Amino acid sequence: LNSKLPQVGTTIFSTMSQLAAEHQAINLSQGFPDYDGPASLLERVDYHIRQGANQYAPMTGVPQLRKALQAKLLRCYDRKVDADTEITVTSGATEALFAAIACSVRPGDEVIIFDPAYDSYEPAINLNGGTAIRLPLLPPDFRINWDQVATALTPKTRMLILNSPHNPSGQILYPEDIQALQQLVANTQLLILADEVYEHMVFDQQRHLSLNLYPDLAARSFIVSSFGKTYHITGWKVGYCVAPATLTAELRKVHQYLTFSTATPLQRALADHLHAHPEEDQRLNLFYQQKRDFFNHLLAPGRFAFTPSAGTYFQLMDYSAISQEEDTQFIQSLITQAQVAAIPLSVFYQHPPEQLTWVRFCFAKHEKTLEAAASKLLQL
Ligand code: PMP
Ligand code: GLN
Repeated sequence: LNSKLPQVGTTIFSTMSQLAAEHQAINLSQGFPDYDGPASLLERVDYHIRQGANQYAPMTGVPQLRKALQAKLLRCYDRKVDADTEITVTSGATEALFAAIACSVRPGDEVIIFDPAYDSYEPAINLNGGTAIRLPLLPPDFRINWDQVATALTPKTRMLILNSPHNPSGQILYPEDIQALQQLVANTQLLILADEVYEHMVFDQQRHLSLNLYPDLAARSFIVSSFGKTYHITGWKVGYCVAPATLTAELRKVHQYLTFSTATPLQRALADHLHAHPEEDQRLNLFYQQKRDFFNHLLAPGRFAFTPSAGTYFQLMDYSAISQEEDTQFIQSLITQAQVAAIPLSVFYQHPPEQLTWVRFCFAKHEKTLEAAASKLLQL
């Protein structure tokens, strides 16, 4: 078969979770919590199923949920949006990302993404005939070099994909990044796709600089988030995209034929929950900061080196004091010998730099899970 995606294999997240299960390893690889979403949210699904909310939702998302998101955007980012024309509920952030790319990128277009990059961006660009221009974020701090971005722009550049808080590095955008971005895109036709699924996981009193906060940037952006992360329900696959009406109209042309709509009882339950507990998302920063600190504190006496993540539920750890193996090799030993699974950093790069001795741990776990993992990792 003449594959359309010859470079693409099975996503690392499936591969690692499967390996972890085979070796009965503690799974700190694929990002998902080992605890449930709030009971009051889960109960609302049951309620709506019994009430008969079991047929197609409106293509754009159930009105109650779009209204609840409208209120959230005002509360969190002081952004006023039209719930009918500027918010679309999707089947996970993954679908929103794909639809935003598919409705914007034409054959021959270039899209700037940053290495290490979340794995769904480039295949979506390629399937639409575009080329990903991958610019490196350099360890140890993984910040964007804006001069390099400016140099990479060509008449073919259609879109810039930003991910903050950033998976896998845990880095966030700072005010100077926003300023540089504003200068870079002013007087251009560039579109921005902002992947902000970890918007409520930002630590140490920093603020999440959502593009929703900046009208000039929001006017050219698809801003994507996911309920999966905020409410510990990654398996529900409910996300959304906020974009100006003209961009939203284009996004919906793809969304309506990709999935048409997203599970009705899940949307109804989320709408009720956001309405009843509007400020719950604000507690997540501290919740995950405590998990990060708990995990890092446990590992501090060991031989991993790290800088605490600024955001996300991931922590990168440098293993160079433990082993000189390549990261994929090191992960194999980690799973089979220490029985802890993690993600090698190199898989997020097109051309991994030499001697990339980092692995990504997910700390969205019960303290007892983190303790059990740490006691194994400390023996390395
Ligand atoms: N973007 C990033 C950076 C992610 O880490 C994830 C999480 N898997 C997604 C998008 C996809 O989110 P969802 O599970 O809602 O599709
Ligand atoms: N975003 C999650 C991670 O980075 C995994 C998502 C997935 O499995 N597709 O681990």
